[in-house]
Amino acid sequence: MLNIVLFGPPGAGKGTQSERLVAKYNLAHLSTGDIFRANIKGETELGKLAKSYMDQGNLVPDEVTIKMLDQELKKRPEATGFIFDGFPRTVAQADALDDLLKAKNTQISAMLALEVSEEELRDRLTKRAQTSGRKDDADPKVIQNRIDVYQKETAPVKDFYAGQNKLKEVNGEGSIDAITQRLFQVIDQLA
Ligand code: ADP
Repeated sequence: MLNIVLFGPPGAGKGTQSERLVAKYNLAHLSTGDIFRANIKGETELGKLAKSYMDQGNLVPDEVTIKMLDQELKKRPEATGFIFDGFPRTVAQADALDDLLKAKNTQISAMLALEVSEEELRDRLTKRAQTSGRKDDADPKVIQNRIDVYQKETAPVKDFYAGQNKLKEVNGEGSIDAITQRLFQVIDQLA
């Protein structure tokens, strides 16, 4: 099984690149941000809970997020591999993911970390706000909080995978196609 964690700060291009990886490698795409947004739209209990955190640019609590991811994995027993987009975002989530995959007799193949400068991120998120309709893109204070939360809580997840020799850093600046080619190259080199 090919199980990829696509990692990067908000605005790094995880969603865009995920679509391309899914198409090429036939992976099931699990984006926790998309799943939360679908729940908000459907006005589910989970959506109501997640919304209060997301609108402020804070993380949804680990317990809630991990339980949701477990359920999503169980919905796809036939999948031949996964791309995790926006998850894990804390070391506790990374630990939990290892356990969930172990129970399926599989593991993470690699973490692909998109590297983008903070200035470029702020620029992309401000532009995205004009089309995404996302409340968390519309307010510069919320954007800054998401970047701060990333630095504090999420960046350490890189060390977690580096410790397992699974971290692959990829330059996330340049054209969308160029970045896709870089990602393909790294994945094709995995054993
Ligand atoms: P972005 O990468 O642009 O921040 P996402 O769609 O990945 O966008 O996430 C949007 C929001 O959803 C996050 O700011 C957070 O509130 C919530 N969220 C998504 N994934 C997780 C996660 N794994 N753990 C906790 N909260 C999450």
